[in-house]
Amino acid sequence: MGTELLLGTTINTDAADVAVLLSEYGINVYWQTVVGDNPGRVAEAVRRARGRADLIITTGGLGPTCDDLTKSALAEGFGIPLELDRGEEAWLRGIWAERGYSELTPNNLQQVWLPQGSTPLRNDWGTAPGCYFEREGVRVIMLPGPPGELRPMLEHRVRPILAALSDGVIVSHNIHFFGIGESEMEYRLRSYMQELTNPTLAPYAKPGECLVRVTAKASTAAEAEEMMAPVIERVRREFGDLAYGMDGTDLAGHTVRLLIERGVTLACAESCTGGELQKRITDVPGASAALLGGMVVYTNMAKASLLGVPERLLEEKGAVSREVAVELARRVRERLGSDLGVGITGLAGPDGDGAHEVGTVFISLADGEHVWVREKHLTGRSRALVRLHSCQHAFDMLRRYLSGLSVTEGGPEA
Ligand code: ATP
Ligand code: MG
Repeated sequence: MGTELLLGTTINTDAADVAVLLSEYGINVYWQTVVGDNPGRVAEAVRRARGRADLIITTGGLGPTCDDLTKSALAEGFGIPLELDRGEEAWLRGIWAERGYSELTPNNLQQVWLPQGSTPLRNDWGTAPGCYFEREGVRVIMLPGPPGELRPMLEHRVRPILAALSDGVIVSHNIHFFGIGESEMEYRLRSYMQELTNPTLAPYAKPGECLVRVTAKASTAAEAEEMMAPVIERVRREFGDLAYGMDGTDLAGHTVRLLIERGVTLACAESCTGGELQKRITDVPGASAALLGGMVVYTNMAKASLLGVPERLLEEKGAVSREVAVELARRVRERLGSDLGVGITGLAGPDGDGAHEVGTVFISLADGEHVWVREKHLTGRSRALVRLHSCQHAFDMLRRYLSGLSVTEGGPEA
């Protein structure tokens, strides 16, 4: 609820968060309504929702301002009066006293007027409680709008309600992939997905990687796990080592953790990614155990003066070349004395250099003996996506190296 959602100034992330949770409990979502802060239209939305759903979840409009009219609209729509909830009032007064605020005003108190007989949902992340009631077979859950309040409320207040409503448990696992697109994955899994009803299988895409979620509904968690095991096995068999993990973090987190676990150190020389690779490595807590450091060698001058890449090589082969990529990884590794060196050089665009297609990137990995190079043509992508994918390839080469898999299709350069 809220006019800001209709205007497009706020993206409706609440709807997505609610829907994701409901799907975990096998509750089908048939309608999502966005309505502005207008009493007549909110009432209309409530009337419609009441006639077509068993469960209504609202977000937003619980606060103390006059445009917050969710509770009164729901109460009116279901013919229930609002009443001051003494328990929530005491809690709110406690917060005011604790924070040393002045006297509660009537509009602050409005937040703790709830539909008579409803169960308050304590909001430990804000000041407007949610609530839950059931009337004539329809269940209503009202939740605050700010996503920072909504998310923990969903996790800690709504999840237990849904768990009690559904007979059994729903368990899911995410299998993470790199090196295959969502559409190809969907295509290869389509007939299997259609065969399955429980467990179910659904592919999802994130920028630069994708995942498959396996979900089972059963009477116990152990039973759900047992049902999922053969499905997980089959998906893993289908895609082999394109799968890099399960239920973990993203590819960056996974790779950095592998480096730390194996006690392997790393140094990076980045050109077109401008430090993004090292930024993403250092986003992972504990990264200092793996990343010694590195350089952003954006121009030829920097490549030559900071790393000693021979100027003749830069002139003859060009900065965007397999040969320069080899030098970047090798030299940065030697400079910093790390176990591994990674180099990235390419053309992120949108402007070309006259010699290469925009999106041409060479990503290299060196250990003490070999150097591997991946040549990618990430065409048709924005500058930001070329960079992101370049980093993903660097992570993939590292995780493959650390897992004893082949790093590149053709084997090492040297
Ligand atoms: P408050 O007590 O802050 O007024 P509230 O429960 O009344 O909370 P709203 O007034 O509807 O919620 O929204 C407060 C803010 O929360 C909005 O300005 C917006 O930034 C964010 N918000 C509200 N609804 C959504 C939504 N559906 N998706 C994402 N953000 C939202
Ligand atoms: Mg509000």
